[in-house]
Amino acid sequence: MWKRISSALLFATSAALAERVELTRPVMGTLARITVETNDPPRAGLAIEQAFARLADLNAKLSDYDPLSELNRNPPRKSRDLQHVLHHAAELRRLTGGAFNHEAGTVIRLWRDARQRGVAPTPAQIEAARTAERKVDLGGIAKGYAAGEALALLRRHGFRRAMVAIAGDICVGDPPAGRPGWRIEVAPGSARRLLELHQSCVSTSGDAEQAFEANGRRYSHIIDPRTGHALTHPIGVTVVARQGIIADALATALSVTGLREDLLRRYHAAAIVWTPESTRESLFELFERARPIRAEQPR
Ligand code: AMP
Ligand code: MG
Repeated sequence: MWKRISSALLFATSAALAERVELTRPVMGTLARITVETNDPPRAGLAIEQAFARLADLNAKLSDYDPLSELNRNPPRKSRDLQHVLHHAAELRRLTGGAFNHEAGTVIRLWRDARQRGVAPTPAQIEAARTAERKVDLGGIAKGYAAGEALALLRRHGFRRAMVAIAGDICVGDPPAGRPGWRIEVAPGSARRLLELHQSCVSTSGDAEQAFEANGRRYSHIIDPRTGHALTHPIGVTVVARQGIIADALATALSVTGLREDLLRRYHAAAIVWTPESTRESLFELFERARPIRAEQPR
């Protein structure tokens, strides 16, 4: 009895002493935020610095924007990180019949340039890009991997109550003291959900922020590599998985394929898929580390 009370007291004391240390920095063309709950803020600050250094290291390996990245060097050196990401990307390309395709870089770049100019490419340009030499683009998978790796580094330094968020790709470790999980609001398309997560990762994809309009159509930054066309049907996908690389890649893949429960089961993941017609939540019942705690009205 006494033992139980004393450990409860100890827990309450340490929870009261816990502080949050949080830093935000530009990383991988967006902002990354790292949060650690700790009783030792100075040491946590040092660990967070190392986690940001790891993110910079991954950017130097995986970026398709940086001409000097390992990915863009010819031939690439193939670090373990690059090999690992390429392996997962190739597997998902196979399982989706090319709906997810990390080697569609030429088409992706064509549409990226089109977005900057605000003019859609012509069918001839699309066909030329689609059949051009393959070019690797890890934009649909790298940030989730990086979030998971930064979280793993924090854990190795003893900081288990932590969260790493690289834009819409987020990984969390043990829950904050006295809580069942980290509360994270996700917004796939026009849906909104509040999730409570621990030891898992969540990624959201879709055309919310990065779409552009031309000829009265809305073009997503996600393309269907099988046709070479940017997606024009509105869709928003949130995926929860144990690994960041899986959550990120699946969210991009399901944006092209729509809901694929076979893929979710294979990777032990759950998803929210929003389209203008419906919002579907799939397999959260299997995913014990995430629960939607409040379903809000669509915006
Ligand atoms: P995300 O925000 O994770 O969904 O990733 C979007 C990024 O993934 C785009 O900016 C492209 O760099 C890349 N991408 C777009 N379409 C695809 C696709 N069908 N398969 C793989 N990567 C893609
Ligand atoms: Mg993705």
